[in-house]
Amino acid sequence: MANRDRTIENLIEQLNRLPGIGPKSAERLAFHLLRIDTEEALQLARAIEQVRAAVKTCSRCSNLDAQDPCSICMDGSRDATMLLVVEDPREIARFEDVGYKGRYHVLGGRLSQLEGIRPEDLTTSQLLARVQKDKPAEVCLATNPDLEGEGTARVLAERLVPLGCKVTRLARGLPAGSSIAQVSASILADAIEGRRSLS
Ligand SMILES: [Zn+2]
Repeated sequence: MANRDRTIENLIEQLNRLPGIGPKSAERLAFHLLRIDTEEALQLARAIEQVRAAVKTCSRCSNLDAQDPCSICMDGSRDATMLLVVEDPREIARFEDVGYKGRYHVLGGRLSQLEGIRPEDLTTSQLLARVQKDKPAEVCLATNPDLEGEGTARVLAERLVPLGCKVTRLARGLPAGSSIAQVSASILADAIEGRRSLS
């Protein structure tokens, strides 16, 4: 659009970078933001600014929280013998909802040959160092039950088993190809309850 204002074009470009937002949606959102009250639009801008200033990545588990170490790492009442490995910080809320009381480690993604994501692109070395230092009795690999999540669990298990801890995986009750973000709380609770050994 040669005749469109450069600042509008810039906003459309920024929105288009967001996951799941194509060029048409980006354009629609940009014009929505121009149409609503200035104050309402600025609330969104300020919310982004505030969350980026307030939220940190936990130096122990890579969870996102207002404090580092995060509130879960700092909570002495949690079961330190159990470490649950998740792909994404969003999944922690799901496990909290079903009453999990151990600790977490966030990988920051999963291994993918297609996308060129290697173990060193995730928090793999931090996980191995943490397991060697804290010696949890059990490490449960709670990556998603899809092809890449299963592959990630396999690679991590190969590295964790020699460290001497019990390595488990969520039960097979999770529908294959589903994601932890989507399954119901009862299925997720069953998947933790019925976890199987990979050691
Ligand atoms: Zn933490």
